[in-house]
Amino acid sequence: MMKSSVKMPQPPTPAHICPMDRTCSYLQQAGSELNVDPGILAVLEKPRKVVTVSIPVKLDTGEVEVLAGHRVQHCDVLGPYKGGTRYHPSVTLQEVSSLAMLMTWKCALLGIPYGGAKGGIAIDPNQYSVGELERITRRYTSELIKDIGPAVDIPAPDMGTSAREMAWMMDTYSMNVGHSVPGIVTGKPLSVGGSKGRQQATGRGVMIVVREALAQEGKPLAGASVVVQGFGNVGGAAALLLHEAGAKVLAVSNLSGGVFAENGLDVPALYKHVVQNRGHMGNFPGGELITNEELLTLPCDVLIPAALENQITEDNALQIQAQMVAEAANGPVTLVADQMLHSRGITVLPDILANAGGVVVSYLEWVQGQSYVFWDEERVNQEMEGLMVRAYHRVYETAQQRGIPLRLAAYTLGVGRVAQALGDRGLYP
Ligand code: GLU
Repeated sequence: MMKSSVKMPQPPTPAHICPMDRTCSYLQQAGSELNVDPGILAVLEKPRKVVTVSIPVKLDTGEVEVLAGHRVQHCDVLGPYKGGTRYHPSVTLQEVSSLAMLMTWKCALLGIPYGGAKGGIAIDPNQYSVGELERITRRYTSELIKDIGPAVDIPAPDMGTSAREMAWMMDTYSMNVGHSVPGIVTGKPLSVGGSKGRQQATGRGVMIVVREALAQEGKPLAGASVVVQGFGNVGGAAALLLHEAGAKVLAVSNLSGGVFAENGLDVPALYKHVVQNRGHMGNFPGGELITNEELLTLPCDVLIPAALENQITEDNALQIQAQMVAEAANGPVTLVADQMLHSRGITVLPDILANAGGVVVSYLEWVQGQSYVFWDEERVNQEMEGLMVRAYHRVYETAQQRGIPLRLAAYTLGVGRVAQALGDRGLYP
């Protein structure tokens, strides 16, 4: 038993927006549910390492801008740190720390041998040229060179980054160490050791978890009505795959606004329209315009927030008319709103389960890279589906056995696995 002066977990405090408070509150709830040793909980509450680096970058105008880049390594008890790199104006050290902790529980829940980390730079990537983004990414990677590595910490794409940034990170790391190291990142382009199926993986995972959860309630995915907030890497892929599986996608939105069609949108046509119109949904002939706020409160079987954090708060939780909320984004429901949805009987599929498809295929990419054998997309999708389906059922059964919501069940499984490993390993020295 590890001893500590920390008090036993307290009931959750009404943390509305602070992401770290929310994540810690769920950690405490899982700790109480499992009677985790307070010393172990005290260790898990804090990130193991927090790195903030200065990124001076020469802009195309010749001016120099100095940015701050973060990498938070929460826990590596189960394996190398793993987590995305986010480029978004809302990035703060607090947010990155909370997202790093979420990665720890996500990987543990899915049973993949990773710890949790996250990185980020508070920029709007649309405000920078490709050349500027490349210089920012390379300098950021270079500053982190001693803190990352294929057996240490493996970055991946997140909001605002993609395979392009991963290629730059991989090249910068490789140039610094003097040889090619494809395993330093996942979510890479196929040309440098990426995996088939990685790009759609998070959206595919969302579709799979929604399908399993609906089936549990005796409802087929075909014909179910779905609303998706966000039409990027995650929301766009989820909407396309749900449409393909026969669900009726009533509405989707992105930063430019949203579109709604009572009988379901032609999602592939909308996708094409959005690509051709540089992200704009307006003028899409197959639907009416709708605001993001209206979209969230549409009556539907499944609402999928796939954009930013804190979209469902105590201000709109009573207006949500979905039967089920699938958290494709990380932390889209605040702590208070989560309790409100639960008491209204709305099922919430928690982020660490619903959006785990991305890191699962990152793991499969890493496995393929380590073995120098690359699979076809069917095999990747099949392996991922197996891991996601098993995780969903573990969460569902834990929730049933313990009489707790799915989120607490998911945390209980993730936190439990890490706490067990930390207990077995013991504290050094
Ligand atoms: N950024 C994704 C997530 O939040 C993927 C992370 C990864 O593949 O390492 O799960």
